[in-house]
Amino acid sequence: MAEKIVILGGSFGGLTTAFELKRLLGKRVEITVVCDQDKFVFIPSLPWVAMGWRKPEDIVLPLNRVLTPKGISFINEEAISVDPDSSKVLTKTKQLQYDYLVIATGPALVFSAVPGFGPEEGYTECIFTLEQALRCNEAWKRFLEDPGPIVVGSVQGVSCFGPPYEYAFEVETELKKRKLRHKVPITFVTSEPYIGHFGIGGLGNSKRVMEDEFARREIKVVTNTAVEEFTPQEVRLKDGTKIPFKLAMFAPPMSGVKAVYHLGNEKGFIPVDSNYRHKNYKNIFAVGVAVAMAPPEKTPIPTGLPKTGYMTVEMAKDAAKTIASDILGKAPPEVEPVGAVCIMDMGNTAAMMIARPVTPPRQVSKLKSGIHYKWLKAAFEKYYLWKIKRGLTQLP
Ligand SMILES: Cc1cc2nc3c(=O)[nH]c(=O)nc-3n(C[C@H](O)[C@H](O)[C@H](O)COP(=O)(O)OP(=O)(O)OC[C@H]3O[C@@H](n4cnc5c(N)ncnc54)[C@H](O)[C@@H]3O)c2cc1C
Repeated sequence: MAEKIVILGGSFGGLTTAFELKRLLGKRVEITVVCDQDKFVFIPSLPWVAMGWRKPEDIVLPLNRVLTPKGISFINEEAISVDPDSSKVLTKTKQLQYDYLVIATGPALVFSAVPGFGPEEGYTECIFTLEQALRCNEAWKRFLEDPGPIVVGSVQGVSCFGPPYEYAFEVETELKKRKLRHKVPITFVTSEPYIGHFGIGGLGNSKRVMEDEFARREIKVVTNTAVEEFTPQEVRLKDGTKIPFKLAMFAPPMSGVKAVYHLGNEKGFIPVDSNYRHKNYKNIFAVGVAVAMAPPEKTPIPTGLPKTGYMTVEMAKDAAKTIASDILGKAPPEVEPVGAVCIMDMGNTAAMMIARPVTPPRQVSKLKSGIHYKWLKAAFEKYYLWKIKRGLTQLP
């Protein structure tokens, strides 16, 4: 009888695991993807949506159209809870029994970390979901009619540092293009101990390159700082500094999602071994942002380790291979520590970063910038969507 595999989440982690398992095991498995969203969103392009450089239809794919042709079932519901002892997942209308469970539920965004924070109950914009990016674009359009100071950054406890960098550089580029730059003081506020730390202890000469880039663009930088609160007009830092804004975009800290919180650490992230298997439950795996990964060093203001799309896809492939080995009665594969390749948009240029493994000491540690990396990032977006549409996750 076919083994039942339930995968929670239909994004980078969930889809890659689903396609890889189907490819490796065919009819030996019945795979069900459970996702509260009905579409895959290419999240790395959300800063471009916020700038009006992409439309939602450019970067989304309906999940049923992607999964069903591959013989993978799709349930468009939120998983409400998991009972690891009876191997069951509960949604609002269904109870799903599994032989293997893969948790790829990504993060919950913790805006409650700071008073006045976030687009829904606070005064700051965010670009971490499609809805937030679209809202941020509306705020941007209003801002352009009556410009003033902009503050961009990451509060204490953030792990996903890239998007605020991208947004700050994109805003600076667009303001120059519109001949409005002289009307807009831009401040970049971050909990990182220095610019270019990125939550990974820096990468090659990232500190120097990023410091130069911010200086060249005359973006004021405040590092190693925590935010006390946001008001409708200003960011108040813990040291008493007040920075006024007309528009503020800040990254939030993350936790695991509610449905799997009880299977995780104190922040709800899932503890796994080197094959992405849950440390306490043999038939539960986790990949991507849902995984617990310790930061490389303790920073004066708390920061976390980013788990990027590239890392997520690597984890998903390794988890799928491990589950396949289990089902075929083979020894688990040897898994290398996860690495990262990432292209950070910088508005009028871009930076390519390679870290292998992600945290120091590293075998490979590179950061290079140039306009051709921006073209590569745009090409990669198209290629990745093409690949996911066809379920060809075995391609690089
Ligand atoms: C703005 C931004 C830009 C980024 N840019 C880059 C980049 O350039 N390069 C890069 O490598 N990485 C980038 N990243 C990181 C990358 O997007 C993440 O690493 C990746 O999305 C993680 O994939 P995931 O599958 O773990 O989680 P997610 O993509 O967060 O997906 C989780 C899925 O699970 C669903 N879900 C959650 N809870 C439940 C539940 N209870 N039941 C059912 N479904 C549930 C969610 O709705 C979602 O569909 C960026 C991130 C952001 C926010």
